[in-house]
Amino acid sequence: MNFAFTEEQELFRKAVREWCSKELTLEKVREMDNKGEIPREIIKELADLGLLLMTVPEEHGGAGADWTTACIAAEELGYADISIAVPVLFLVETAWGFVTDKYCTEHVREEVIRKAARGEAFIGIASTEASGGSDVAAIRSTGTRDGDHWILNGEKTYISGTEEAKKLGGGHFTLVRTSPPPPGAAHRGMTAFFLPINAPGVEVGKRFEEMGRMAISTGSIVMDNVRLPDAYRIGEEGKGFYLTMEGFDNARLLIGATCLGAAQRALELGMQYIKERKAFGNPIGKYEGIQFDLADMWSELEALRSLVYRTAWMNDEKYKRGRFTPLEVTKYISAVKLKVPPFAFKVFEHVMLWMGAWGYTKDCPLEMGLRGIMSYYIGAEGAMNIQRIIIARELLGRDYIPYK
Ligand SMILES: Cc1cc2nc3c(=O)[nH]c(=O)nc-3n(C[C@H](O)[C@H](O)[C@H](O)COP(=O)(O)OP(=O)(O)OC[C@H]3O[C@@H](n4cnc5c(N)ncnc54)[C@H](O)[C@@H]3O)c2cc1C
Repeated sequence: MNFAFTEEQELFRKAVREWCSKELTLEKVREMDNKGEIPREIIKELADLGLLLMTVPEEHGGAGADWTTACIAAEELGYADISIAVPVLFLVETAWGFVTDKYCTEHVREEVIRKAARGEAFIGIASTEASGGSDVAAIRSTGTRDGDHWILNGEKTYISGTEEAKKLGGGHFTLVRTSPPPPGAAHRGMTAFFLPINAPGVEVGKRFEEMGRMAISTGSIVMDNVRLPDAYRIGEEGKGFYLTMEGFDNARLLIGATCLGAAQRALELGMQYIKERKAFGNPIGKYEGIQFDLADMWSELEALRSLVYRTAWMNDEKYKRGRFTPLEVTKYISAVKLKVPPFAFKVFEHVMLWMGAWGYTKDCPLEMGLRGIMSYYIGAEGAMNIQRIIIARELLGRDYIPYK
């Protein structure tokens, strides 16, 4: 057992942190949060640093990085941008760019993967529909074969990066039903496509007014008889559900690392504050009511950091050596998604309480974190109870899936 990062990974972390300390300061994060957009230069610099779609193989335009290294990047970006808008862009593109690249045609690679890795396009995920996000197999959007083309119809909603895709070009890994499900197997008969945002018949709805991660958009996408060549299909016909689950797994892992980084930053800002702020003649950090809270949260943070990086290592072993089954890794990844975002939310909440009235103002950066992390607590890339269902399914067996 060896808990050390490689020298290369340590140097990588240092390089990302150095860049963040100059280009992604809390002042800049506040500016982005107010303006509601990530400047193009930031996206370009992320690409120049080799962060965008970093787990995609080098020959396809990525950096060929492993998931442990991608978690380091996510953690550092979360540490810097506690609003988590830039980490969201990073992790959505890394996770969904990876799964798209793994199964797509060279045509799609040329159209979006290589460009997104250079920061010249955006790639996201469009799975959720108005009728619900958790029950992925219940989607109503359809794909109908028309010779060597497909006709896509339906509407996807709460989709991250709709405006970014409009501005930069690119589109979304999109799941539609292409054949009726066999009895008792609703997850079959769905196919994944790369849906270019500028394809005729695609209409982007208005941006939702959300409570957090203001610098990245969330909107809806209507597909009205969108005609796509078969080259836009990702993976085998009817197997889209499995690919979507693979994408969710990788995204959820990076979400864990992002939330760790943000929680670490909140704790550090809090420690600085409690050493300086005095009440009843002493720095409040001298009082056990504060110290014990700090000690509890630090301990939990370290426990979760171990879980995140152990899971990242398992994910790497799965991809590189087939050492764990995909579902074994999924179980751990769901534990990461279940535990880290609520914990990070708690850290922001508690540190804001330490800060008293100042914590409630926008002069203090912490409210950006509380608002941003709530997105992953509430369910972006998978709701909490869905993680519990996955974990229980892996522990008890498929006969215990509650909705079957
Ligand atoms: C900021 C943000 C960005 C997003 N970006 C994207 C994106 O880019 N692409 C995309 O496709 N989607 C995106 N989503 C949607 C996200 O994937 C869904 O919110 C999520 O899957 C949950 O779906 P839902 O919101 O419809 O909730 P529902 O599925 O309606 O669930 C509501 C509640 O019921 C619980 N629940 C559901 N089923 C069960 C059950 N069987 N047992 C117990 N409890 C249950 C859930 O845990 C949840 O608390 C985003 C969401 C947010 C908030």
